[in-house]
Amino acid sequence: MTTENLRFRDLGIAPDLLKVVEGLRYSAPTPIQRKAIPIGVEGKDVVGVAQTGTGKTLAFGIPMVQGLSRSRMKGLVLLPTRELAVQVNETIAKLERPFRLGSAVLIGGESVRNQVQRLRARPRILIATPGRLNDLIEQGIVRVDDVGVVVLDEADRMLDMGFYPQIERILRLIPRGRQTMLFSATMAPEVLKIATAHMRIPIRVEIAPSGSMAENVSQEMFVVRRETKSRMLVELLKQYAGSVLIFVRTRRAAHKVAAVLRLERHAVSEIHADRSLAQRQAALAAFKSGRARILVATDIAARGIDVIGIELVVNYDLPDDPENYVHRIGRTARAGKSGHAISLATPDQGQDVRRIEGIIRMSIPKSEHPDVPTERLAPDRPAGFTSHVRSFGRLGRRRR
Ligand code: AMP
Repeated sequence: MTTENLRFRDLGIAPDLLKVVEGLRYSAPTPIQRKAIPIGVEGKDVVGVAQTGTGKTLAFGIPMVQGLSRSRMKGLVLLPTRELAVQVNETIAKLERPFRLGSAVLIGGESVRNQVQRLRARPRILIATPGRLNDLIEQGIVRVDDVGVVVLDEADRMLDMGFYPQIERILRLIPRGRQTMLFSATMAPEVLKIATAHMRIPIRVEIAPSGSMAENVSQEMFVVRRETKSRMLVELLKQYAGSVLIFVRTRRAAHKVAAVLRLERHAVSEIHADRSLAQRQAALAAFKSGRARILVATDIAARGIDVIGIELVVNYDLPDDPENYVHRIGRTARAGKSGHAISLATPDQGQDVRRIEGIIRMSIPKSEHPDVPTERLAPDRPAGFTSHVRSFGRLGRRRR
């Protein structure tokens, strides 16, 4: 049987857990689930190269719950952001509930007292950001010397955020015989370093070459002057009826874009670092339930947002880090659905655009709009003969 036809029942999941998984009513496992689960349920270490939106939470959640339901050990999921923690907890809860393992989310920005309260129930699964978990360990509130399964989720992002020292400190306190599963959208050298230093010969599973984007996302780009961006956005939104996620670079931009769209009578939520955890959760809930059709977000706040059925992702601003382009457009077209991504670039961002195109290994089609004037990307360097010819040739191909 080729792996494409594998069903959940072919992945080595124990009968009692299989019943729970089948109750979730997914028609088939996703590629990363087909590849990671059979290895994970054998207790082996796994490195999974996969973005959020590929079904990776069940890819590690199923092996973790299966392992814990047969032992007395604890499970630990380390991840970069509060939003991701809340979402991972929702998924894990569905799996562990019948086994009464219990889970606790331990994240910064929330009162320690509530978390201490939750720990009293002795949850077997901890879902934590490295900073807060470290604090709780240091205060003697949490122990990790009985952890048997560790997951590092969105490892590349945790490292980007400077969590390496905390992750190391935590891993050093966990018994060596543990199972470690690491998931990352990219295999950056620092991620590889963690894997080599802290894992037993892990098996690497990959669903697509690192840096590739979610399947089924069509992409286009409009090159516009900065002052034309909001008009372009307003015009573009007229063509879409479904839910839309808009990425901006700064919280100020988030405020501004949300205000412009409210004037146009759109139902808009925003999430960015200016908002409290409660406000962010409320914004996300409004977006998930459809009360707000549009969510405006900065990169950090949006990481890990798991909403099915986003029709359109708009990069109102290009990401500072070109790798984030892949994360952003992965918000649409999740789990087999198709979606569309539109990016707005200013004429002086030729180099940024080419960097992104290098990562996704394709050129993003440049579009024109019937009502809003578009521009061309300026060439990288003061055009010497060859570079001029090269960039002109490329533009010529794109215009087809
Ligand atoms: P994740 O990558 O874990 O954040 O999952 C992305 C989304 O895919 C979540 O909303 C899941 O509910 C959904 N999902 C997970 N596994 C499957 C599956 N086998 N089939 C369809 N959707 C899935």
